[in-house]
Amino acid sequence: MRKLAYLSLGSNVGDRRANLEQALERLQQAGQVKAVSSFYETAPVEYTRQPDFLNLAAALETEKMPRQLLHALLEIERALGRKRPSAAAPVKGPRTLDIDILLFGSSIIDTPELTVPHPSMHERRFVLEPLAEIAPDLRHPVLKRTMRELRDALPAGGAWVRKL
Ligand code: ADP
Ligand code: MG
Repeated sequence: MRKLAYLSLGSNVGDRRANLEQALERLQQAGQVKAVSSFYETAPVEYTRQPDFLNLAAALETEKMPRQLLHALLEIERALGRKRPSAAAPVKGPRTLDIDILLFGSSIIDTPELTVPHPSMHERRFVLEPLAEIAPDLRHPVLKRTMRELRDALPAGGAWVRKL
């Protein structure tokens, strides 16, 4: 059965735009890319002493099950040179490519490997600005708010996001 998944892609190492474009290209192997947001330049959050990110949101129609999709996305991250955190590379540190599953249809998933909806998506402007651009009326299955409403409810003065 086909489902529509919403993904967040980010890069802050190397040629960020090329990394995201190659990731979108490779996503075709996991399904059909239905929508892609603009590129957004965004300030890093949590671990802030690292370069600015380039982020976007994408809608992917897929026949994969959520776990299979996650594995396909991790494989794309690896193919594009992502190194997993080590002592030299802190968690939440710079990455060539990060792909997160924000929403998977209206599924609610809570396993050690995968949490959907993504647990911090509603707090992150770098997620909600691009997502509200491509799916303003999409409703969060737990919070019952649309992406536009969630974005408009973000507190002012958080990490900046600039649409390119
Ligand atoms: P983060 O994206 O939080 O900075 P990572 O990209 O290193 O961190 O992801 C670490 C792990 O998070 C992945 O291996 C995956 O098993 C898990 N994970 C849990 N929920 C999700 C989700 N919704 N999307 C992507 N990864 C997830
Ligand atoms: Mg990730």
